[in-house]
Amino acid sequence: MKKAFFFITLLLGVIFVWTISVDGYKGISQEKFTDYLASIFFIDSATEASLRQTFHEAKEKNDKVKVLIVPGHDDISWGTDFRGVKEADLTVALGEELHGLFKENSLFEVKISRTSAGHDKELDLYIEGNKQGILDFMKVQKSKMGELIDSGKIVFKIVVEHATSTSRTIQRLYGINKWANENGYDLVIHIHFNDYAGRKKSATGKYSGFSVYVPEGNFSNAKGSRAVGESIFKRLRGLYPVSNFPNEGAGIIEDQELIGVGAYNTLDGAGILIEYDYIYEPILVDRKIRNEAISDYALQTYLGVMDFFEPSRINSDMATAYLPYEWNRNLFEGTRDPDVLSLQAALMREGVYPPAGFSRNDCPLTGAFGPCTERAVKAFQKKYNLEPVGQVGPKTRAKLNKIYGI
Ligand SMILES: [Zn+2]
Repeated sequence: MKKAFFFITLLLGVIFVWTISVDGYKGISQEKFTDYLASIFFIDSATEASLRQTFHEAKEKNDKVKVLIVPGHDDISWGTDFRGVKEADLTVALGEELHGLFKENSLFEVKISRTSAGHDKELDLYIEGNKQGILDFMKVQKSKMGELIDSGKIVFKIVVEHATSTSRTIQRLYGINKWANENGYDLVIHIHFNDYAGRKKSATGKYSGFSVYVPEGNFSNAKGSRAVGESIFKRLRGLYPVSNFPNEGAGIIEDQELIGVGAYNTLDGAGILIEYDYIYEPILVDRKIRNEAISDYALQTYLGVMDFFEPSRINSDMATAYLPYEWNRNLFEGTRDPDVLSLQAALMREGVYPPAGFSRNDCPLTGAFGPCTERAVKAFQKKYNLEPVGQVGPKTRAKLNKIYGI
């Protein structure tokens, strides 16, 4: 992939708001600035065409598409947490699964910035050994942007305000971008779990769902990032609710201040930051269910990337880590188990989950058998001429195993 960034001077503008940056969950406050007019200030460094060309070359010339996976946060600064479960542990578990999926595909060269064993040594050495270089890189990029602001050529819009990061994290994230540029990475995927400021620490919050962040349209990597982000979004949307946090409702959010996706135009490759479900959501509370969910998030993300590269191979069937599945026991109200998670996924594929009249935010996949599942089981039973009792007994189980069994 090409390195490029030059500024085209010119064009419109109004205000630019300097914010300190950012990688975590967002604050509750919303600020909207004057609408800006999109304009191109940077030469494209990652477009749909350039990414597909790289993939094509990987196939034809034994080249590789280079993917960097960045599990958000670390042991020192673990992001958000809920009842003892830390975001940094979830992001690393998901990152490792995603890494494994890319690794199996010989068209990709994949690296993960952190595993459960700690930070990647090569990246760590780079960041430690290049402190000044990274600072200079930040400074140069910011001042380029500053020039654009001073001359009134760029406008900034905050869609969702993010939590600020420590200077250590900021430097690390810019360091990762600089390193990814120098090493020709085509795609950088940042993994986070959602949360918002103002939630009581041990209490379940009021929002649910995922969001996909991509760089704002002016940036050199915007076009390619947006296209890949949309593919991932479509896969996730097949199973999970879109975040109902104000201004995240579109599901794909263009952002200028997230370092991970290339704030100040610091990333040449495509950059995507995914906030998977909110940390307190039922699907993430129980360890066994959570592990299944994490496998599926990784699968959907991987399939989303593959959909982008090979659109002709998109299969309309809902692929998920939850299916096929073999059910071996009765399920009823109150059961909380991976059995129920797979049941819900099967009901979803049948088109009866969430039940009629309910949204995915009302009735998400949870692994817990509650009123949503009961309604959906009844609908399934009606569909197959079984007695609509709202529980999974031997007959319903036999039907499920027949359609979705291993
Ligand atoms: Zn985070």
